[in-house]
Amino acid sequence: MMGKKVIITGVPGVGKTTVVNKALKTLKEMGVEYTSINFGSFMFDVARSDDIVQDRDQMRTLDRGVQKRLQQRAGQAIAQVTGNVLIDTHASVKTPKGYLAGLPEWVLREIMPDIIVLVETDNDQILMRRLTDETRSRDKEGYNSIAEHQQFNRSIAAAYAMMTGCTIRIVTNPDFLLERSSAELVEVLR
Ligand code: AMP
Ligand code: MG
Repeated sequence: MMGKKVIITGVPGVGKTTVVNKALKTLKEMGVEYTSINFGSFMFDVARSDDIVQDRDQMRTLDRGVQKRLQQRAGQAIAQVTGNVLIDTHASVKTPKGYLAGLPEWVLREIMPDIIVLVETDNDQILMRRLTDETRSRDKEGYNSIAEHQQFNRSIAAAYAMMTGCTIRIVTNPDFLLERSSAELVEVLR
């Protein structure tokens, strides 16, 4: 049987990676295997070996053409992975020149996801999570700017659904409810 291709997105700091890791652990216990892929890591491997950046959070400030080239290479490599695949990425990337589609047409046609999950939570919670995350160079954005990004991601997800026929699932990840968010994701993935 063909595997399921699921793309998981959410603004930086929403807790995607945390929810994903917990859900994948539960699925494994249930005997459901997924190959977990981080889109940014594929891009970063190329960017680092080409000496373009030292840190993954620098990539979104690169020239648009360079970001697109890295994105295309990552998309092509990821499209080769078979079986159940879960791809951790962004519906849109906030760059100094505006929103860059995380899944432009030429990436989407390679991957052809079955489902795109949007992980969301309250804008003020995202703001707090970014401020307390020492491991990353998260953008220092205000409430309204985070709200705009989350809104834009819903809009662009609709375009992705039109292009591929995939379903869009919104999973909320509020403070103190990781258990519930990950259980929701498990239901989508199983
Ligand atoms: P993350 O670890 O998910 O925050 O991703 C790190 C960085 O990878 C992001 O800040 C972006 O610069 C880049 N990235 C990840 N996914 C995409 C994508 N689909 N298109 C363009 N850039 C991406
Ligand atoms: Mg992450």
